[in-house]
Amino acid sequence: MRKNIVAGNWKMNKTLQEGVALVNDLKSVLTAKPNCDVIIGTPFIHLATVSEMVKGTVIQVAAENCADKESGAYTGEVSAAMVKSTGAEYCILGHSERREYYHETPEILKAKVDLALANGLKVIFCIGESLAEREANKQNEVVKAELEGSVFHLSAEDFGKVVIAYEPIWAIGTGKTATADQAEEIHAYIRSVIKAKYGEKVAEDTSILYGGSCKGSNAPELFAKPDIDGGLIGGASLKAPDFKAIIDAF
Ligand code: PEP
Repeated sequence: MRKNIVAGNWKMNKTLQEGVALVNDLKSVLTAKPNCDVIIGTPFIHLATVSEMVKGTVIQVAAENCADKESGAYTGEVSAAMVKSTGAEYCILGHSERREYYHETPEILKAKVDLALANGLKVIFCIGESLAEREANKQNEVVKAELEGSVFHLSAEDFGKVVIAYEPIWAIGTGKTATADQAEEIHAYIRSVIKAKYGEKVAEDTSILYGGSCKGSNAPELFAKPDIDGGLIGGASLKAPDFKAIIDAF
């Protein structure tokens, strides 16, 4: 059975002290066991501290990136093994901001996915179309190519450690959310593509999250759809009450 998941993506926000304060706030609002898995994606510098702080709670920790090389002379990079050594369990890969601003190609992402999995991390793999691609009605071919380019080389067993996050670029941080029907339509398509590649069981077991201006007010309608298994949350993950409102949608 696939999991319902609400995952935060702090992006490049919060000093270490601010991040610690946010985790303390989250721990104090998440008193009852939620009806979904809860993950927070933090900058590298927070990972070890936050992983220690959330031990014994429902909160799991994700890195927002990892290197496409195993180790060595790559100044400033952080390897998947290093991420794993902090206690983090997930790695977010393929976010549209990394694809656009840091020129992460499908081949680079494929290498990152392989290294993350080889080091015992689970992957939250982001896909999604731009506004121009949506207006040209190319969203289905874009997400299919993103899956084929970076994760469809995996064995079914390894694909089982991947969570897909569908994030239309035009909805990220813009306040424009895809309607629940628009999101459901493409989530169902993504699941059909996974089914064609890996079969019914793997497709049914894959969690597909929606991301893009998701908040407490629109999460219930989105999460009620059969192929939307939760959310990847940017802006609304930065304040404990806002993040909790989304978790409470389940
Ligand atoms: C994101 O960047 O993953 C995201 C979904 O951002 P926001 O919720 O702010 O649109």
